[in-house]
Amino acid sequence: MEFKFENLEVWFITGAQLLYGGDAVVAVDAHSNEMVKGLNDSGNLPVKVVYKGTANSSAEISEIMRAANGDTKCVGMITWMHTFSPAKMWIHGLMDFKKPLLHLHTQYNEEIPWATMNMDFMNLNQSAHGDREFGFITSRLRKPRKVVVGYWKDKSTHAKIATWMRVCAAWADAQNMRVIRFGDNMNNVAVTDGDKVEAEIRLGYHVDNAPIAKLVPYVNAVSDTEIDALIAEYERLYDFADDCKKGAEKHISVRQAAAQEIGLRRFLEDKGAKAFTTSFDELEGMSQLMGFASQRLMAEGYGFGAEGDWKTAALVRSMWVMGKGLQGGQSFLEDYTLNFAGADSAILQSHMLEINPEIAKAKPRIEVHFLGIGDAGVCARLIFQAHEGEGIAATIVDMGSRFRMIVNEVKVIEPKALPKLPVACALWIPEPNFEVGAGAWITAGGTHHSSFSFSITTEMMEDYAEIADIEMLMIDKQTTIRNFKQDIRNNEVYYMLNKALR
Ligand code: MN
Repeated sequence: MEFKFENLEVWFITGAQLLYGGDAVVAVDAHSNEMVKGLNDSGNLPVKVVYKGTANSSAEISEIMRAANGDTKCVGMITWMHTFSPAKMWIHGLMDFKKPLLHLHTQYNEEIPWATMNMDFMNLNQSAHGDREFGFITSRLRKPRKVVVGYWKDKSTHAKIATWMRVCAAWADAQNMRVIRFGDNMNNVAVTDGDKVEAEIRLGYHVDNAPIAKLVPYVNAVSDTEIDALIAEYERLYDFADDCKKGAEKHISVRQAAAQEIGLRRFLEDKGAKAFTTSFDELEGMSQLMGFASQRLMAEGYGFGAEGDWKTAALVRSMWVMGKGLQGGQSFLEDYTLNFAGADSAILQSHMLEINPEIAKAKPRIEVHFLGIGDAGVCARLIFQAHEGEGIAATIVDMGSRFRMIVNEVKVIEPKALPKLPVACALWIPEPNFEVGAGAWITAGGTHHSSFSFSITTEMMEDYAEIADIEMLMIDKQTTIRNFKQDIRNNEVYYMLNKALR
């Protein structure tokens, strides 16, 4: 699926004022140009920074902000106050601005030029207090933003900007995301459901229904030649169980799964959808539940949620965008079964079929088995175990009055062989340990489904929650149940009052 950071831009504006004369602004402009060029030439940023000049008045600032809102390539704005930029000038522009904001607190010169510094230098290089003035007005306006502090040539500064840029890209992608549901939310299941109107207002994406009957003709129209070509690709990428190989009795199910993959991809392309959900109870006209197709499409960037879980489908897509080009892979996963083993107590993560082969440790194997739930039928699937490593599991739940994001850092460990359970899986220990990690997740009301990633960081999810302006509960090495419960109580009050404060 087409997605390129190269098609996006982050704009950079430098705050100044005309009090110190035109020469000062010319110098500010030259420094800013050099700094933006330095950021772009560093090779550390996934999205191009475009310098939009100095901002010296309320009118200029408003004009740049309105232009940024209207430019689809622009996914965010970096602001930096080279001189003192009186912040009342920023009120109208910031109130109008609708995109992610990063306030960079840096300085053109690295060290104080002790021997030569005079008052002209002081008047020009004022970010030490100019950025505080700007910080006040963004706080006064309750404007969500990321504050990055660091020298503009430092790699650690670039890393923080790069993290935020990835999230900006995912945010822009979500504002133009259509999620297709084949079938409704699983009957009676609460946690995966939610307010789709609020989701579009708050998180940007649009959730639509598609009857499975609309997909069936797409699958039926796939030609034998197309299936042959895709089977050849499977043979290059995966091992086949003996009874699934060409000529063997179950090979027909693999061919049917290949037709589903091609038909489903075509359907989603026609609908302009980036994510989808399936239902094992709505499969009339289908040979099997589209589990194998879901595995394959997830690997190319489509968001996926099982049993109508559109919130997870959208989050899987957004996390794919954030992690694009990074090592490790990501997947839809479900808390399956517990393994009590003292300090190594862990949760087996799996699903009936739909795990992204990008997280596989070794070459996945195609197997075909009957799946005795709903109308799932005899289903092809890719079987593998996830590689070990550190990752994060994330979910968004609808608390009625707000969305709550929950993120748990986890350590994926090696599972034992599961010869009688033909599914892909991962085994993880949640941080800070099984007892507190699982306890906090449950206390927060977290789903049994999650979007998991080896490649994206907690900081990205924090940036995401900041941009979306939603609640974020973090479960990591520092978490204790006592403090976590207090965070939840504090948040209840904060979000109740939040609207009144704005
Ligand atoms: Mn499930």
